[in-house]
Amino acid sequence: MADKIAAPLADILDRLRGCDWVDLTHAFGPGIPHYSAFPDEEREVVFHFDEGVGSGGTGFLAHRYSHIGQWGTHVDPPAHFARGGRTLDELPVTDMLLPLVVVDVRELVDADVDHAVSRHDLQAHEQRHGGIPAGAFVALQTGWGARWPDGEAMANRDADGIAHYPGWSVEALQFLVEQRGVTAVGHDTTDTDPGVVVSGGSAPAETYILGADKWQIELLAGLDRVPPTGALMLATWPKPREGSGFPARASRSCRPPGPPRRRSSPVAPDRNKRSPCAGVAVDHAGGQQHQVVVRPRCCDAVTRARRRRCRS
Ligand SMILES: [Zn+2]
Repeated sequence: MADKIAAPLADILDRLRGCDWVDLTHAFGPGIPHYSAFPDEEREVVFHFDEGVGSGGTGFLAHRYSHIGQWGTHVDPPAHFARGGRTLDELPVTDMLLPLVVVDVRELVDADVDHAVSRHDLQAHEQRHGGIPAGAFVALQTGWGARWPDGEAMANRDADGIAHYPGWSVEALQFLVEQRGVTAVGHDTTDTDPGVVVSGGSAPAETYILGADKWQIELLAGLDRVPPTGALMLATWPKPREGSGFPARASRSCRPPGPPRRRSSPVAPDRNKRSPCAGVAVDHAGGQQHQVVVRPRCCDAVTRARRRRCRS
């Protein structure tokens, strides 16, 4: 019985090892952009190899990290906004591996920096790239990740202190939850809602999605290197008892190195729909959360040169 299980798993592992990875995570540390009411991170060297460096001793390296749960690229469980909602330790590990859909709204954001992604935007994405599958992780690519780690550029406040950045609308999230049955969402901005809404003192989109018992990841990085469909999202996090959020980590995809793909080169319809394989990996670094996207090197092969690199 063991062999019957091991053989296909070994095959899957081989295929996963043939994949590249996209890092969807900003490295975190003191001074990164964060919600203005949150304190900055403090990091202490408790043990160090050299004498007199660590506050607690010598012989090895150990840090004490002090940061808010919603720090850098991070996961928000329902309990972050919904009293009594599921906490990090209550999210099942089966949620950590999901089909990934990336909705690119950079053109809309170029035209209106306050753009709230609508149900129509999502339906337009589906017409172009195919239906959003049940159980998916839907990530919003607004282009805002390029502003990291400039906190002022990310907040983009006007003279009156009103922040201007894009976000989700409630109706779009309702569509994803009620019509598509997604498991989670994410975005490259600091908030679920557009900046003008947050500046007004409310967060209806974040209240809705977490209140709907879904979880989200904020401040995603590298979405410009992930195709609209055909990839997987692996999102993992530590298991703090009754935890309300924690930093995240990500990896790389199969897209060959090169300049980020921009809106000026439209994606061919269905180009990524027939990926022969896709996979995941975990990178345990610093005891923090990890999220990984991986696709086979061949799945974006649009030229003969790229196809020759394909191993499957
Ligand atoms: Zn958050």
